[in-house]
Amino acid sequence: MTLHLNIEPLHDWMPCGTKPCIIAGPCSAETEEQVIDTAKKLVKIPMVKVLRAGLWKPRTRPGAFEGVGDKGLKWLQRVQAETGLKVTTEVANPVHVEKAMKAGIDILWLGARTVVNPFSVQEISEALKGVDIPIMIKNPLNPDLTTWMGALERISKVGIRKLVAIHRGFSFYQHSPFRNDPMWEIPIELKRLFPELPVIVDPSHICGTRDLLLSVSQRAIDLEMTGLMIEVHNRPKEALTDRQQQITPEHLTSLLSKLIIREPIGSDEFQNLLEELRSEIDKIDQQLIDILARRMTIVEEIGKYKKANKITILQLKRWNQIFSERIHTGQELGLSKEFIMKLLEAVHEESIQKQIDVMNKKD
Ligand code: PEP
Ligand code: MN
Repeated sequence: MTLHLNIEPLHDWMPCGTKPCIIAGPCSAETEEQVIDTAKKLVKIPMVKVLRAGLWKPRTRPGAFEGVGDKGLKWLQRVQAETGLKVTTEVANPVHVEKAMKAGIDILWLGARTVVNPFSVQEISEALKGVDIPIMIKNPLNPDLTTWMGALERISKVGIRKLVAIHRGFSFYQHSPFRNDPMWEIPIELKRLFPELPVIVDPSHICGTRDLLLSVSQRAIDLEMTGLMIEVHNRPKEALTDRQQQITPEHLTSLLSKLIIREPIGSDEFQNLLEELRSEIDKIDQQLIDILARRMTIVEEIGKYKKANKITILQLKRWNQIFSERIHTGQELGLSKEFIMKLLEAVHEESIQKQIDVMNKKD
């Protein structure tokens, strides 16, 4: 099934002006003073056009601060009136949608815990029928592009054309410096499939701490993402939610000043050299594919030979030997151990599959 998203070309429906679009504000609205004070500081940062604040907070465990709820809507209206910033909040059910729309919230987002559940996304989609504001869809908690695409599709199907994806990283069981591993290949694939879909990166939920924010934000910019959503609190150390990752407005100013905004297209001279290098890469990729195809032909030969002699497919001793030799050779040529391992594992898996096919084939 091919997925079609009918997205309005991004001109001014996200209040970005020039890229990147910066959305900033507290994880949760806590008090009127906190929201207004944070907003008044943020509006002084020219790149910030939208204030975020969670009103209804999905918490992992009951009993934690679950947001101020409805009463925070008035605080967001004050932000609109007193600063001119646009405001966005998370909606997790149709009642939230109705209340946020009535209050004139400018942009809504669906959180990672909602997006994992197609029933919830469908209910919210129904509630969004006829709505003409931008809707941002975070990736689901788990690294599953299809579920993310499914949520985008559900929202698109009710006629929403101002669609945005938010990349907030993925739960990861292995050791990682991140709270949620970015797994950049997933948002990159999403961009490849839907070049017209704006993708905003949420470095706060990816990092979980303040110190990694700059490098993740820079990576997002270098990957031509549309913008950043960063958690900013006027007193982060007192924050009721996500205390470790929130930064002050001053910290945000300094972070944004360090970001290097690179142009996607450079001068003619630059383009020419780039094209030359790219055509070299194209040639090398072609060779790589040819070589891999040749390797698989030989693997099939070996499979036939093993079959004729009733020998098992997996020869662990040989595989271990290949593994350590190749890693060594690769490292000598400046390739990382992790990269060689991933590559060899993929090649080995395909080789085994080819041999299984040979074994199962009726003679
Ligand atoms: C949030 O943005 O504060 C939030 C709860 O994020 P996520 O849905 O990405 O966990
Ligand atoms: Mn948060």
